[in-house]
Amino acid sequence: MNKEDVRLLDELERALRQGGLRLAYQPKVDALDGSLVRVEALMRWTHPELGAVPPARFVPLAEMHGLIDGLTQWALRTALRQWRVWKNAGLDTSVAVNISAMSLEQLDFPDLVERLCRALDVPVDRLVLELTEGATQPLINLMDTLTRFRIKGVGLALDDFGTGYSGLIQLRKLPFNEIKIDRQFVTDLPTSRDDQVIVRSVIELAHGLGLQVTAEGVETVEQLAALRDLGCDLIQGYLVAHPLEAGELVAWASRHKRRWKLLIRPPQEEP
Ligand code: C2E
Ligand code: MG
Ligand code: MG
Ligand code: MG
Repeated sequence: MNKEDVRLLDELERALRQGGLRLAYQPKVDALDGSLVRVEALMRWTHPELGAVPPARFVPLAEMHGLIDGLTQWALRTALRQWRVWKNAGLDTSVAVNISAMSLEQLDFPDLVERLCRALDVPVDRLVLELTEGATQPLINLMDTLTRFRIKGVGLALDDFGTGYSGLIQLRKLPFNEIKIDRQFVTDLPTSRDDQVIVRSVIELAHGLGLQVTAEGVETVEQLAALRDLGCDLIQGYLVAHPLEAGELVAWASRHKRRWKLLIRPPQEEP
């Protein structure tokens, strides 16, 4: 471990203890009518000297050095509390939390999540866990834990689909109810025949297996139109909303209703 990592880990641990972390929340909307379906919690750490440190930097560090379970529990608790605040303000949505596959190795994790939901008065079916396949741990090895979550009614989303071990075939065995198509298949979708073929078959197969499909990283109206044509269920990306502060979501939701109509307007004919 180099000196910079030691220092960063130490400061991350302090940030976790002293309230130096936040969650940003990025909406996922229905591809057909634009309605808000879910918000995804994304961890944010503003370091006093370094500024914003991206999760891609500090999450792997926390995984390697025993801090990830603490971060995961903090994120779950914070997101569930925030769900209750929104619910009381009249905004009924579900909340997705990113979970390191490593945290699933804790044997009592499903029970812990259930207890947390009960203590914070959030129905378990309003929570979705987003899991990414790690480089070392295929999700199929975590089958028992995943199944226990599903039995309890917690939703499971396979994040960054197309980048890990789990191809379409393994998906049949894993108890997910949502897949998120990775941004790399979305970027060139409007013009790339190959990406169109891939995304079309992923969506068809996922629907055949009863899974909901989210596209991540949607930035343009052309990508949105292509995804709607292909029957994608949920849309997420900068086009719809950047990750927002918790307090911004209600105002965003009312602005978004008007803006959505412009986003899906068919292109104007050239005179
Ligand atoms: P992810 O879960 O796949 O999240 C999507 C990432 O893409 C987020 O980056 C988000 O800010 C970004 N993004 C969203 N829309 C767009 C878009 O239209 N264009 C582009 N270019 N990017 C977009 P972020 O917040 O830096 O998070 C990166 C990754 O870090 C996440 O990928 C997730 O795997 C991990 N992560 C974030 N928060 C947590 C957490 O609380 N716990 C754990 N274990 N991992 C987390
Ligand atoms: Mg995610
Ligand atoms: Mg993702
Ligand atoms: Mg991704």
